[in-house]
Amino acid sequence: MLEALKEKVFQANLDLVKHGLVLFTWGNASAIDRESGWVVIKPSGIAYEKMRAEDMVVVDLEGNVVEGKWKPSSDTPTHLVLYQSFTDIASVVHTHSTYATAWAQAGRDIQNIGTTHADYFHQAIPCTRDMTRAEVQGEYEKETGNVIVARFSGMNPNHTPGVLVKNHGPFAWGKDPVDAVHNAVVLEQVARMAYIAFEIHPGLTMNPFLIEKHFNRKHGRNAYYGQ
Ligand code: 13P
Repeated sequence: MLEALKEKVFQANLDLVKHGLVLFTWGNASAIDRESGWVVIKPSGIAYEKMRAEDMVVVDLEGNVVEGKWKPSSDTPTHLVLYQSFTDIASVVHTHSTYATAWAQAGRDIQNIGTTHADYFHQAIPCTRDMTRAEVQGEYEKETGNVIVARFSGMNPNHTPGVLVKNHGPFAWGKDPVDAVHNAVVLEQVARMAYIAFEIHPGLTMNPFLIEKHFNRKHGRNAYYGQ
């Protein structure tokens, strides 16, 4: 079932390693088939060298395993909350990539201070709040999804396709696994550039009209970037 989607999700997991965003098993990628409402996700803690497309696990939006011999990723409930709340997205990826995770650990939003950022993320890449003891000791991974969704109140997740989970790391999403991986790679690169730029000049800013120009030439109604 969903064999083509399993292949894409498997490839997305490998691509996160290829782009240097994932060490060992520190990350996960998934995709949803919106027609059936089933989600294909990486199995938890399986070495990537041994992992195959057929090892991907299929779950429903309640987290019940529909097909698969392995336990799904430990972060599955987080992915499921994102699919339920951000209804235009079709793929989610999570990594512990170095610079984005450093910003997450510091608890800081990554301000939009360059055109690289503005080409992909309209606003600052937000960092979530501290999770409470009850959230951590309760349904932790589901609550992680809930704090992400709460942080996006008043924001458009299609225009800012990524987040930093405080003390944890980044999640990014997109219209398919290739797009979600792409956004995760950009998020890491933007985090790296911002770290260096603030080191050079802590008080730096970017004009809002330059942000609008770059975001809208790729994503606005009259977008003209590309062929
Ligand atoms: P899984 O192998 O269970 O997906 O865990 C990886 C991870 O990054 C947890 O945050």
